[in-house]
Amino acid sequence: MSDQNPVFIPGPTNMPDRLRRAMQVQTQDHRSPAFVETLTPVLEGCKTVFGTANGTIITFPASGTGGWEAAISNTLSPGDKVLVARYGMFSHRWIDMCQRHGLDVQIIECPWGSGAPADKFQEALSADTDHTIKAVLVTHNETATGVKSDVAAVRRAMNTANHPAMMFVDCVSSLGSMDFRMDDWGVDIAVSGSQKGFMLATGMAILAVSPKAIAAMETAKLPRTFFDFRDMMGANAAGGYPYTPPLQLIYGMAESLKMLFEEGLDNVYARHHRLAEGVRRAVDAWGLKLVAQSPDLYSDTVSAVFVPEGFDSNALIEHVFATYGVSFGIGMGEMDGRAFRIGHLGSLTDTMVLSGLATIEMAMADLNYPIKLGSGVVAAQEYFRATTKPALAKA
Ligand code: PLP
Repeated sequence: MSDQNPVFIPGPTNMPDRLRRAMQVQTQDHRSPAFVETLTPVLEGCKTVFGTANGTIITFPASGTGGWEAAISNTLSPGDKVLVARYGMFSHRWIDMCQRHGLDVQIIECPWGSGAPADKFQEALSADTDHTIKAVLVTHNETATGVKSDVAAVRRAMNTANHPAMMFVDCVSSLGSMDFRMDDWGVDIAVSGSQKGFMLATGMAILAVSPKAIAAMETAKLPRTFFDFRDMMGANAAGGYPYTPPLQLIYGMAESLKMLFEEGLDNVYARHHRLAEGVRRAVDAWGLKLVAQSPDLYSDTVSAVFVPEGFDSNALIEHVFATYGVSFGIGMGEMDGRAFRIGHLGSLTDTMVLSGLATIEMAMADLNYPIKLGSGVVAAQEYFRATTKPALAKA
């Protein structure tokens, strides 16, 4: 019966019936004019979600990891230096990928639970007087720790240092659920995927690429074939794809964009903020602590919660699934065994969140956590009753 319960993992997220139906399409010839009519509005619509008028949207049949690879391999050459801060599992994995691609990675080590350190970036960029750093990489929403970083502050740091590096931002677990402003923040490549804020199946990496990154593509020497922007942009301009496209996902994207725009992006962000705040009230009522170190870092799409000393967060996640058929996120990397995660992104309402909180509370009570059964649910209920529910998309 567990397939009837919503998931509370931070992606892939719950798929609304409307989107599942939209993906139920028969095979179509992707070289026919009908394909152009499907793809073009999707690329246009994505621009609005990324907050870009100047960027080019590029999609690949891949997950977010493929999007990372596309970003670096299209713009950089072996030995190029990139500046990255490590503050969670996903910033770590992007670093690992850069190293495996033969890039020279300058790493700023930060405590897990903190975010992108704009001041340290500024220091490193100011010291780089020869401008050897070609790109600064930022994970907007560190899914392992539930930390949101201030991308605009990183851009200000880069400007203050008067440094010409590009800025690449991972917005895999924020885009479509939290405000993102590619042009305003001066982002050169933003990387996302279909399975989080877009509420779809996994399988499409979605990137927005600035004119500066496109110019860098001309001289970049890292090898790429499947992920070559040039092939994708050329084919898209002619109304096609360089290889067989993930047709069902493209139909799904068209409908997902409709849902997001019907609800209104600001309402979508307000809904996520409200749901996240309800979760945070519950965590507080349990007497537990978030991994995110301060309120300015709290993510509106995922909360990572420390378990009390002497408890194992993985045992909790195993128990809640085995007993109640509901999935929550495990602790990753440094948080392994120490924290569990509540995903609250994508297609989610306050009623669904309350059910998740009630369920994890039962599991904690089963395992003798020092929490009062019902306390988190009541705190979230009180918050939800006292706050206005933003308008929802039509089902
Ligand atoms: N970046 C972030 C912030 C993520 O949360 C994830 C996946 O959860 C990824 C990158 C990797 O994306 P994927 O698993 O789709 O390859």
